[in-house]
Amino acid sequence: MKKNDEFILNIEDMGVNGEGIGRYEGMTFFVKDALIGDLARVGVTKMKKTYGYARLIEVVEPSPDRVEPICAFSRPCGGCQLQALSYEKQLEFKQRLVANDLRRIGGFTEIPMEPIVGMHDPFHYRNKAQLPIGTDRDGHIVTGFYAGRSHRIIPNRDCALGVPVNKTILDIVIGFMERCGISAYDETTGQGLVRHVLIRYGFRTEEIMVCLILNGADLPCAGELIRELTALPGMMSISINVNTDRGNVILGTETRVLWGQGYISDQIGDIRFRISPVSFYQVNPVQTEVLYRLAADYADLGGAETLWDLYCGIGTISLFLSGEAGHIYGVEEIPQAVEDAKRNAEENQITNVEFIEGKAEEIFPAFYAEHTGRPDVVVVDPPRKGCDGKLLHAILTTAPERVVYVSCDPATLARDLQILCAGGYRLKRVRPVDNFCQTVHVETVALLCR
Ligand code: SAH
Repeated sequence: MKKNDEFILNIEDMGVNGEGIGRYEGMTFFVKDALIGDLARVGVTKMKKTYGYARLIEVVEPSPDRVEPICAFSRPCGGCQLQALSYEKQLEFKQRLVANDLRRIGGFTEIPMEPIVGMHDPFHYRNKAQLPIGTDRDGHIVTGFYAGRSHRIIPNRDCALGVPVNKTILDIVIGFMERCGISAYDETTGQGLVRHVLIRYGFRTEEIMVCLILNGADLPCAGELIRELTALPGMMSISINVNTDRGNVILGTETRVLWGQGYISDQIGDIRFRISPVSFYQVNPVQTEVLYRLAADYADLGGAETLWDLYCGIGTISLFLSGEAGHIYGVEEIPQAVEDAKRNAEENQITNVEFIEGKAEEIFPAFYAEHTGRPDVVVVDPPRKGCDGKLLHAILTTAPERVVYVSCDPATLARDLQILCAGGYRLKRVRPVDNFCQTVHVETVALLCR
């Protein structure tokens, strides 16, 4: 077999990136855009020793689970890897993904898996949009999403995962840039001003935040943009964020409010949260409430426990659980998020929660090196790379009764659960929650008992 060879492939499985997988003449092939159940004509793009990559030339016989994507750009855009798959099958795929990782990476043989929680309406769920700004071949300013695994912008102001007001805001921003001659950033030259537009929307409060990420310290003619944006109902905050670095990191360290307040508010359960542009906040507010209720259920609190919420962001889980525990410590490394968390506690008149700024793997062990007693329940909600080894070690040493692991990456979840289980814990319950419908991403909550 060699590059450009063509053949018919039966797609029997799907990989972690949503790509179709099939076997041909003893070799495994990965085919982007092919779905499980498809019979597909494919062309080899790259060969390795035992496997290869191929591109989809034609679907000869479509999978019975294929559906018509609602977005015209779903195939070239890197965002929705699963839009052509029925939602029911997306959920099955994700549950299988979590189970496979627990089995293969975590070494678990018996998995106490509970059925994945799907979303009633799996579109328009994102409360945050972060779009690159660029210039097309004809010199027009464009915004949209990067094509899969590239930085080519596919123009689209109306993403099917976002809220409708995004389009109105993007039309205003682009119109303003064109009229006032404000340039888009070009990452190949490092020239140009506007890099990204960040929009946040509070589903419960209907408050809107717009932040322009600039390759420079000032936005010329800002007054004009402010005048147009503030005509939108719900507009609460217009800011700029300065990022003059050449890299891929979107946000810089300096944020300046141009108009209104520096944050918007939203509500999860009965708690109101203040969210600033740089703070982490779950992107799917509907499923987040489901996720937190599940975490609360797994934590099984009686009212007197000492609980740690590690990787706490703006304190959402801590505050959500505050009525059910005795004392809660939240730990978060981003100073702005900790500030938001503290204010959120105050504004909700919650007094049994303390927020500490720093790395979870440093703060938590240091606390128990200085204090007697031990935690009853530890909740961790780390970023995709999972928990630091030092933190897992500290959990094993301090030996809380229960550990609730909220994860956005099943592979690192499986790795960390294996370490905790080798150290004396048992995996009691696990349940995926679909917070990222149409994409390959999935949240999972796991309960470990000592
Ligand atoms: N539990 C929160 C946030 C989860 S996202 C929520 O549900 O909204 C993970 C958070 O961990 C981010 O806010 C990130 O800034 C923070 N973080 C990343 N590495 C960390 C570390 N080593 N120690 C503490 N916080 C960290």
